[in-house]
Amino acid sequence: MITKPKGTSDIYGLEAKKRAYVDEILKNVCESYNYNYVETPVFEASELFHRGVGETTDIVSKETYTFLDRGNRSITLRPEGTAGIVRWFIENKLYGNMTEPVKVYYNSKMYRYERPQAGRYREFTQFGIELLGSDDIFADIDVISLVYNTYLLLGLKGVKLSINTLGDKESRENYKKALVDYLKPNIKLLCSDCQKRFNNNPLRILDCKVDIDSDILKNAPSTYDYLNEESKKRYEKIKDYLDLLDINYEEDFSLVRGLDYYDHLIFEVYADVEGLGGIALGGGGRYNNLVETLGGPSVPAVGFAMGYDRTILAMDNSNVNFDIKDEIDVFIMYVSDTEKETASYLTQDLRLNGFITETDMFGKSLKAQFKTVNRINPKYLVILNDKDLKENIVTVKDNLTKEEEKIKITELTSYLFERI
Ligand code: AMP
Repeated sequence: MITKPKGTSDIYGLEAKKRAYVDEILKNVCESYNYNYVETPVFEASELFHRGVGETTDIVSKETYTFLDRGNRSITLRPEGTAGIVRWFIENKLYGNMTEPVKVYYNSKMYRYERPQAGRYREFTQFGIELLGSDDIFADIDVISLVYNTYLLLGLKGVKLSINTLGDKESRENYKKALVDYLKPNIKLLCSDCQKRFNNNPLRILDCKVDIDSDILKNAPSTYDYLNEESKKRYEKIKDYLDLLDINYEEDFSLVRGLDYYDHLIFEVYADVEGLGGIALGGGGRYNNLVETLGGPSVPAVGFAMGYDRTILAMDNSNVNFDIKDEIDVFIMYVSDTEKETASYLTQDLRLNGFITETDMFGKSLKAQFKTVNRINPKYLVILNDKDLKENIVTVKDNLTKEEEKIKITELTSYLFERI
Protein backbone atom coordinates (compact mmCIF):
# COMPACT_ATOMS: atom_id res chain seq x y z
CA MET A 1 0.00 0.00 0.00
CA ILE A 2 1.26 3.45 -0.85
CA THR A 3 1.01 5.68 2.23
CA LYS A 4 1.28 9.43 2.67
CA PRO A 5 4.77 10.83 3.21
CA LYS A 6 5.93 11.21 6.83
CA GLY A 7 4.83 14.50 8.41
CA THR A 8 1.91 15.13 6.05
CA SER A 9 -1.84 14.83 6.66
CA ASP A 10 -4.99 14.02 4.74
CA ILE A 11 -7.60 16.54 5.78
CA TYR A 12 -11.23 15.48 5.54
CA GLY A 13 -14.50 15.08 7.43
CA LEU A 14 -14.79 16.95 10.73
CA GLU A 15 -11.21 18.21 10.49
CA ALA A 16 -11.98 19.86 7.13
CA LYS A 17 -15.11 21.45 8.62
CA LYS A 18 -13.16 22.83 11.57
CA ARG A 19 -10.73 24.38 9.12
CA ALA A 20 -13.52 25.94 7.12
CA TYR A 21 -14.85 27.48 10.34
CA VAL A 22 -11.42 28.88 11.27
CA ASP A 23 -10.84 30.11 7.68
CA GLU A 24 -14.04 32.09 7.81
CA ILE A 25 -12.98 33.85 11.03
CA LEU A 26 -9.51 34.59 9.65
CA LYS A 27 -10.97 35.96 6.43
CA ASN A 28 -13.45 38.17 8.28
CA VAL A 29 -10.79 39.58 10.60
CA CYS A 30 -8.47 40.31 7.68
CA GLU A 31 -11.22 42.00 5.75
CA SER A 32 -12.13 44.29 8.64
CA TYR A 33 -8.48 45.24 9.09
CA ASN A 34 -8.28 45.76 5.30
CA TYR A 35 -5.73 43.04 4.50
CA ASN A 36 -6.13 41.48 1.04
CA TYR A 37 -5.57 37.83 0.20
CA VAL A 38 -2.40 37.01 -1.71
CA GLU A 39 -1.17 33.70 -3.08
CA THR A 40 2.42 33.20 -4.19
CA PRO A 41 3.97 30.00 -5.63
CA VAL A 42 4.56 26.96 -3.42
CA PHE A 43 8.10 26.78 -4.83
CA GLU A 44 10.57 29.58 -5.48
CA ALA A 45 14.21 29.93 -6.53
CA SER A 46 16.27 28.57 -3.61
CA GLU A 47 18.27 31.77 -3.52
CA LEU A 48 15.22 33.68 -2.32
CA PHE A 49 15.21 31.80 0.98
CA HIS A 50 19.01 31.77 1.29
CA ARG A 51 19.05 35.55 1.05
CA GLY A 52 15.69 36.26 2.64
CA VAL A 53 15.40 33.87 5.56
CA GLY A 54 19.18 33.52 6.08
CA GLU A 55 21.70 30.78 5.23
CA THR A 56 22.58 30.18 8.86
CA THR A 57 19.04 29.68 10.14
CA ASP A 58 17.95 26.13 10.92
CA ILE A 59 15.07 26.55 8.51
CA VAL A 60 17.38 27.09 5.53
CA SER A 61 20.46 25.12 6.56
CA LYS A 62 18.67 21.98 7.72
CA GLU A 63 14.99 21.98 6.91
CA THR A 64 14.31 23.01 3.32
CA TYR A 65 13.04 20.73 0.58
CA THR A 66 15.47 21.75 -2.15
CA PHE A 67 15.97 20.05 -5.49
CA LEU A 68 17.13 20.69 -9.03
CA ASP A 69 14.28 20.84 -11.52
CA ARG A 70 14.55 19.37 -15.00
CA GLY A 71 16.09 22.62 -16.20
CA ASN A 72 18.82 22.36 -13.55
CA ARG A 73 17.48 25.27 -11.50
CA SER A 74 17.70 25.01 -7.73
CA ILE A 75 14.14 25.12 -6.41
CA THR A 76 12.92 25.19 -2.80
CA LEU A 77 9.45 24.45 -1.46
CA ARG A 78 8.64 27.52 0.62
CA PRO A 79 9.42 27.03 4.32
CA GLU A 80 7.71 30.31 5.29
CA GLY A 81 5.61 33.03 3.66
CA THR A 82 7.37 36.35 4.04
CA ALA A 83 10.23 35.93 1.55
CA GLY A 84 7.83 35.00 -1.27
CA ILE A 85 5.58 37.95 -0.52
CA VAL A 86 8.51 40.36 -0.52
CA ARG A 87 9.65 38.85 -3.85
CA TRP A 88 6.12 39.45 -5.21
CA PHE A 89 6.13 43.01 -3.86
CA ILE A 90 9.46 43.81 -5.53
CA GLU A 91 8.77 41.98 -8.80
CA ASN A 92 5.50 43.87 -9.28
CA LYS A 93 7.12 47.18 -8.28
CA LEU A 94 4.44 47.80 -5.67
CA TYR A 95 6.85 50.14 -3.89
CA GLY A 96 6.45 52.85 -6.56
CA ASN A 97 4.47 55.86 -5.39
CA MET A 98 3.30 54.32 -2.12
CA THR A 99 0.58 56.52 -0.73
CA GLU A 100 -0.94 53.66 1.25
CA PRO A 101 0.77 50.66 2.81
CA VAL A 102 0.40 47.29 1.06
CA LYS A 103 -1.50 45.02 3.47
CA VAL A 104 -1.85 41.35 2.58
CA TYR A 105 -2.63 38.02 4.19
CA TYR A 106 -2.06 34.40 3.21
CA ASN A 107 -3.13 31.00 4.44
CA SER A 108 -0.78 28.61 2.72
CA LYS A 109 1.05 25.32 2.91
CA MET A 110 4.68 25.44 4.04
CA TYR A 111 7.35 22.73 3.92
CA ARG A 112 10.10 21.99 6.41
CA TYR A 113 12.05 18.78 6.80
CA GLU A 114 11.62 18.49 10.57
CA ARG A 115 11.17 15.56 12.93
CA PRO A 116 7.39 15.11 12.92
CA GLN A 117 5.58 15.14 16.28
CA ALA A 118 2.35 16.59 17.68
CA GLY A 119 2.05 20.10 16.25
CA ARG A 120 5.18 19.75 14.10
CA TYR A 121 4.81 18.50 10.56
CA ARG A 122 6.72 18.51 7.29
CA GLU A 123 3.78 19.93 5.38
CA PHE A 124 1.85 22.46 7.44
CA THR A 125 -0.19 25.62 6.98
CA GLN A 126 0.67 29.11 8.10
CA PHE A 127 -1.73 31.99 8.25
CA GLY A 128 0.18 35.25 8.01
CA ILE A 129 -0.12 38.95 7.37
CA GLU A 130 2.37 41.49 6.03
CA LEU A 131 2.17 45.26 6.06
CA LEU A 132 4.71 46.89 3.72
CA GLY A 133 5.51 50.57 3.35
CA SER A 134 5.05 52.13 6.79
CA ASP A 135 7.62 52.62 9.51
CA ASP A 136 5.08 54.26 11.81
CA ILE A 137 4.40 52.39 15.02
CA PHE A 138 0.74 52.43 14.01
CA ALA A 139 1.73 49.70 11.53
CA ASP A 140 3.24 47.58 14.33
CA ILE A 141 0.06 48.12 16.33
CA ASP A 142 -2.15 47.24 13.32
CA VAL A 143 -0.42 43.86 13.09
CA ILE A 144 -0.39 43.06 16.82
CA SER A 145 -3.99 44.16 17.23
CA LEU A 146 -5.09 41.86 14.39
CA VAL A 147 -3.12 38.95 15.86
CA TYR A 148 -4.42 39.49 19.39
CA ASN A 149 -8.04 39.85 18.34
CA THR A 150 -7.84 36.88 15.99
CA TYR A 151 -7.10 34.60 18.93
CA LEU A 152 -9.91 36.20 20.94
CA LEU A 153 -12.34 35.62 18.06
CA LEU A 154 -11.16 32.02 17.67
CA GLY A 155 -12.14 31.57 21.31
CA LEU A 156 -8.77 30.19 22.36
CA LYS A 157 -8.08 30.84 26.05
CA GLY A 158 -4.69 31.03 27.78
CA VAL A 159 -2.99 32.81 24.87
CA LYS A 160 0.08 34.84 25.81
CA LEU A 161 1.73 37.53 23.76
CA SER A 162 5.46 38.05 24.41
CA ILE A 163 7.18 41.09 22.99
CA ASN A 164 10.74 42.33 22.69
CA THR A 165 12.73 44.71 20.56
CA LEU A 166 16.05 44.19 18.82
CA GLY A 167 16.28 47.94 18.24
CA ASP A 168 17.79 49.59 15.19
CA LYS A 169 21.02 48.53 13.46
CA GLU A 170 23.27 50.32 15.96
CA SER A 171 21.48 48.76 18.96
CA ARG A 172 21.61 45.33 17.37
CA GLU A 173 25.33 45.62 16.64
CA ASN A 174 26.01 46.74 20.23
CA TYR A 175 24.02 43.84 21.55
CA LYS A 176 25.69 41.35 19.24
CA LYS A 177 29.10 42.50 20.46
CA ALA A 178 28.08 42.19 24.13
CA LEU A 179 26.65 38.73 23.46
CA VAL A 180 29.83 37.55 21.72
CA ASP A 181 32.00 38.86 24.61
CA TYR A 182 29.73 37.09 27.08
CA LEU A 183 29.60 33.76 25.21
CA LYS A 184 33.28 33.57 24.23
CA PRO A 185 34.62 31.96 27.45
CA ASN A 186 31.81 29.35 27.53
CA ILE A 187 31.10 28.61 23.90
CA LYS A 188 32.69 25.13 24.10
CA LEU A 189 29.95 24.16 26.58
CA LEU A 190 27.21 24.74 24.03
CA CYS A 191 26.15 22.40 21.22
CA SER A 192 28.13 22.07 17.99
CA ASP A 193 25.54 24.08 16.05
CA CYS A 194 25.85 26.94 18.54
CA GLN A 195 29.62 26.85 18.09
CA LYS A 196 29.09 27.35 14.35
CA ARG A 197 26.50 30.07 14.97
CA PHE A 198 28.97 31.85 17.24
CA ASN A 199 31.07 32.76 14.20
CA ASN A 200 28.42 33.47 11.62
CA ASN A 201 25.25 34.47 13.50
CA PRO A 202 25.59 34.69 17.30
CA LEU A 203 22.04 36.01 17.87
CA ARG A 204 20.69 32.66 16.68
CA ILE A 205 22.35 30.96 19.68
CA LEU A 206 19.57 32.37 21.88
CA ASP A 207 17.09 30.48 19.73
CA CYS A 208 18.82 27.10 20.07
CA LYS A 209 16.44 24.21 20.62
CA VAL A 210 19.23 22.05 22.12
CA ASP A 211 20.65 24.48 24.68
CA ILE A 212 17.32 26.04 25.53
CA ASP A 213 17.64 25.23 29.27
CA SER A 214 21.31 26.04 29.65
CA ASP A 215 22.20 28.60 32.35
CA ILE A 216 24.65 30.12 29.90
CA LEU A 217 21.76 31.18 27.70
CA LYS A 218 19.47 32.04 30.59
CA ASN A 219 22.01 34.51 31.98
CA ALA A 220 22.90 36.06 28.63
CA PRO A 221 22.87 39.87 28.41
CA SER A 222 19.47 41.47 27.86
CA THR A 223 18.67 43.11 24.51
CA TYR A 224 17.00 46.01 26.34
CA ASP A 225 20.27 47.14 27.94
CA TYR A 226 21.84 47.76 24.53
CA LEU A 227 19.10 49.81 22.91
CA ASN A 228 19.99 53.36 21.93
CA GLU A 229 17.65 56.14 23.09
CA GLU A 230 15.67 56.25 19.86
CA SER A 231 15.02 52.50 19.77
CA LYS A 232 14.05 52.55 23.44
CA LYS A 233 11.62 55.42 22.86
CA ARG A 234 10.01 53.63 19.96
CA TYR A 235 9.57 50.45 21.98
CA GLU A 236 8.10 52.29 24.97
CA LYS A 237 5.63 54.07 22.69
CA ILE A 238 4.46 50.73 21.27
CA LYS A 239 3.84 49.51 24.81
CA ASP A 240 1.78 52.65 25.56
CA TYR A 241 -0.43 51.87 22.58
CA LEU A 242 -0.81 48.22 23.56
CA ASP A 243 -2.00 49.39 26.98
CA LEU A 244 -4.36 51.87 25.39
CA LEU A 245 -5.90 49.08 23.29
CA ASP A 246 -6.16 46.66 26.25
CA ILE A 247 -3.83 44.22 24.56
CA ASN A 248 -2.20 42.07 27.24
CA TYR A 249 1.47 41.24 26.77
CA GLU A 250 4.58 40.12 28.60
CA GLU A 251 8.09 41.35 27.91
CA ASP A 252 10.74 38.76 27.14
CA PHE A 253 14.17 40.29 26.57
CA SER A 254 15.63 36.93 25.53
CA LEU A 255 13.27 36.62 22.56
CA VAL A 256 15.13 36.79 19.21
CA ARG A 257 13.07 34.66 16.70
CA GLY A 258 14.47 32.05 14.34
CA LEU A 259 14.66 34.06 11.13
CA ASP A 260 17.33 36.54 10.15
CA TYR A 261 15.31 39.48 8.97
CA TYR A 262 13.93 41.16 12.07
CA ASP A 263 14.73 44.51 13.68
CA HIS A 264 12.89 46.62 16.26
CA LEU A 265 9.69 44.95 17.46
CA ILE A 266 9.50 41.16 17.60
CA PHE A 267 6.77 39.13 19.25
CA GLU A 268 5.56 35.59 19.77
CA VAL A 269 2.26 34.08 20.73
CA TYR A 270 2.01 31.03 22.99
CA ALA A 271 -0.86 29.10 24.48
CA ASP A 272 -0.97 27.08 27.65
CA VAL A 273 -3.07 24.11 26.70
CA GLU A 274 -3.88 21.00 28.66
CA GLY A 275 -2.14 18.00 27.17
CA LEU A 276 0.16 20.15 25.06
CA GLY A 277 1.81 22.38 27.68
CA GLY A 278 3.21 25.68 26.45
CA ILE A 279 2.89 25.68 22.67
CA ALA A 280 4.24 28.33 20.26
CA LEU A 281 1.43 29.44 17.99
CA GLY A 282 3.14 32.09 15.96
CA GLY A 283 5.39 35.07 15.80
CA GLY A 284 6.31 38.14 13.90
CA GLY A 285 7.89 41.53 13.98
CA ARG A 286 9.36 44.38 12.01
CA TYR A 287 11.69 43.65 9.11
CA ASN A 288 12.83 46.99 7.70
CA ASN A 289 15.81 45.57 5.77
CA LEU A 290 14.33 42.59 3.98
CA VAL A 291 12.99 44.36 0.88
CA GLU A 292 16.41 45.86 0.26
CA THR A 293 18.18 42.56 0.99
CA LEU A 294 16.06 40.93 -1.72
CA GLY A 295 16.95 43.56 -4.29
CA GLY A 296 14.24 46.19 -3.83
CA PRO A 297 14.49 49.71 -2.47
CA SER A 298 14.47 50.41 1.25
CA VAL A 299 10.86 49.74 2.34
CA PRO A 300 9.92 49.26 5.99
CA ALA A 301 7.62 46.36 6.82
CA VAL A 302 6.07 44.39 9.64
CA GLY A 303 4.30 41.03 9.70
CA PHE A 304 3.22 37.92 11.51
CA ALA A 305 2.79 34.19 10.85
CA MET A 306 0.71 31.78 12.84
CA GLY A 307 0.86 28.01 12.85
CA TYR A 308 -2.60 27.21 11.54
CA ASP A 309 -2.57 23.46 12.28
CA ARG A 310 -1.19 24.10 15.73
CA THR A 311 -3.84 26.72 16.45
CA ILE A 312 -6.53 24.19 15.55
CA LEU A 313 -4.80 21.55 17.69
CA ALA A 314 -4.76 24.01 20.62
CA MET A 315 -8.43 24.86 20.05
CA ASP A 316 -9.27 21.15 19.98
CA ASN A 317 -7.41 20.44 23.21
CA SER A 318 -9.08 23.44 24.90
CA ASN A 319 -12.54 22.23 23.89
CA VAL A 320 -13.29 25.35 21.87
CA ASN A 321 -16.70 25.11 20.26
CA PHE A 322 -16.25 25.05 16.49
CA ASP A 323 -19.54 26.41 15.28
CA ILE A 324 -19.92 23.92 12.45
CA LYS A 325 -23.11 24.07 10.42
CA ASP A 326 -23.34 20.73 8.69
CA GLU A 327 -26.95 19.72 9.33
CA ILE A 328 -28.88 18.57 6.33
CA ASP A 329 -31.97 20.71 5.77
CA VAL A 330 -34.00 18.43 3.55
CA PHE A 331 -33.96 14.77 2.50
CA ILE A 332 -36.10 13.91 -0.50
CA MET A 333 -37.59 10.39 -0.58
CA TYR A 334 -38.82 8.57 -3.67
CA VAL A 335 -39.24 5.03 -5.01
CA SER A 336 -40.69 4.87 -8.55
CA ASP A 337 -39.02 6.20 -11.69
CA THR A 338 -41.49 9.07 -12.06
CA GLU A 339 -40.97 10.02 -8.40
CA LYS A 340 -37.23 9.88 -9.05
CA GLU A 341 -37.57 12.44 -11.87
CA THR A 342 -39.43 14.82 -9.58
CA ALA A 343 -36.84 14.15 -6.85
CA SER A 344 -34.07 15.13 -9.25
CA TYR A 345 -35.47 18.54 -10.13
CA LEU A 346 -36.72 19.27 -6.60
CA THR A 347 -33.25 18.47 -5.22
CA GLN A 348 -31.62 20.88 -7.67
CA ASP A 349 -34.25 23.54 -7.05
CA LEU A 350 -33.92 23.42 -3.25
CA ARG A 351 -30.13 23.43 -3.45
CA LEU A 352 -30.19 26.50 -5.69
CA ASN A 353 -32.39 28.15 -3.07
CA GLY A 354 -29.68 27.53 -0.47
CA PHE A 355 -31.12 24.50 1.36
CA ILE A 356 -28.63 21.72 2.11
CA THR A 357 -30.48 18.96 0.32
CA GLU A 358 -29.82 15.27 -0.10
CA THR A 359 -31.63 12.34 -1.66
CA ASP A 360 -31.14 8.61 -2.18
CA MET A 361 -28.49 7.52 -4.67
CA PHE A 362 -28.66 3.76 -4.27
CA GLY A 363 -32.24 3.02 -5.39
CA LYS A 364 -33.09 1.99 -1.82
CA SER A 365 -36.51 0.87 -0.59
CA LEU A 366 -38.51 3.40 1.43
CA LYS A 367 -37.72 1.43 4.59
CA ALA A 368 -33.98 1.62 3.87
CA GLN A 369 -34.31 5.35 3.12
CA PHE A 370 -35.85 5.86 6.58
CA LYS A 371 -32.75 4.18 8.03
CA THR A 372 -30.62 6.72 6.16
CA VAL A 373 -32.80 9.50 7.56
CA ASN A 374 -32.22 8.21 11.10
CA ARG A 375 -28.49 8.33 10.50
CA ILE A 376 -28.13 11.74 8.83
CA ASN A 377 -30.96 13.40 10.75
CA PRO A 378 -32.22 16.04 8.28
CA LYS A 379 -34.50 18.82 9.51
CA TYR A 380 -37.28 18.02 6.99
CA LEU A 381 -38.27 15.11 4.78
CA VAL A 382 -40.01 15.61 1.47
CA ILE A 383 -41.81 12.36 0.64
CA LEU A 384 -42.95 11.82 -2.95
CA ASN A 385 -45.61 9.43 -4.20
CA ASP A 386 -47.07 9.10 -7.68
CA LYS A 387 -50.67 9.51 -6.59
CA ASP A 388 -50.08 12.91 -4.94
CA LEU A 389 -47.68 14.03 -7.67
CA LYS A 390 -50.51 13.80 -10.21
CA GLU A 391 -52.06 16.69 -8.27
CA ASN A 392 -48.68 18.40 -7.78
CA ILE A 393 -48.67 17.65 -4.07
CA VAL A 394 -45.85 16.44 -1.82
CA THR A 395 -45.70 15.41 1.83
CA VAL A 396 -43.40 17.40 4.07
CA LYS A 397 -42.44 15.91 7.42
CA ASP A 398 -40.82 17.83 10.27
CA ASN A 399 -38.21 15.30 11.38
CA LEU A 400 -38.15 16.65 14.95
CA THR A 401 -41.88 16.85 15.77
CA LYS A 402 -42.73 14.10 13.24
CA GLU A 403 -45.69 16.21 12.05
CA GLU A 404 -46.63 15.78 8.40
CA GLU A 405 -48.36 18.14 6.00
CA LYS A 406 -49.37 17.87 2.36
CA ILE A 407 -48.49 20.94 0.35
CA LYS A 408 -48.38 22.11 -3.27
CA ILE A 409 -45.02 21.64 -4.99
CA THR A 410 -45.06 25.30 -6.04
CA GLU A 411 -45.25 26.28 -2.36
CA LEU A 412 -42.46 23.97 -1.17
CA THR A 413 -39.65 26.54 -1.24
CA SER A 414 -41.57 29.25 0.60
CA TYR A 415 -42.86 26.65 3.09
CA LEU A 416 -39.29 25.61 3.90
CA PHE A 417 -38.03 29.21 3.94
CA GLU A 418 -40.53 30.00 6.68
CA ARG A 419 -39.37 27.09 8.79
CA ILE A 420 -35.58 26.69 8.25
P1 AMP B 1 8.13 30.39 12.32
O1 AMP B 1 7.91 30.72 10.87
O2 AMP B 1 9.19 29.34 12.53
O3 AMP B 1 8.28 31.59 13.20
O4 AMP B 1 6.81 29.68 12.81
C1 AMP B 1 5.62 30.36 13.07
C2 AMP B 1 4.63 29.36 13.60
O5 AMP B 1 4.37 28.37 12.60
C3 AMP B 1 5.13 28.56 14.80
O6 AMP B 1 4.90 29.24 15.99
C4 AMP B 1 4.29 27.31 14.69
O7 AMP B 1 3.03 27.51 15.28
C5 AMP B 1 4.13 27.13 13.21
N1 AMP B 1 5.09 26.13 12.71
C6 AMP B 1 6.41 26.28 12.44
N2 AMP B 1 6.95 25.14 12.00
C7 AMP B 1 5.96 24.22 12.00
C8 AMP B 1 5.87 22.83 11.64
N3 AMP B 1 6.92 22.16 11.20
N4 AMP B 1 4.67 22.22 11.78
C9 AMP B 1 3.59 22.88 12.22
N5 AMP B 1 3.60 24.19 12.55
C10 AMP B 1 4.77 24.85 12.45
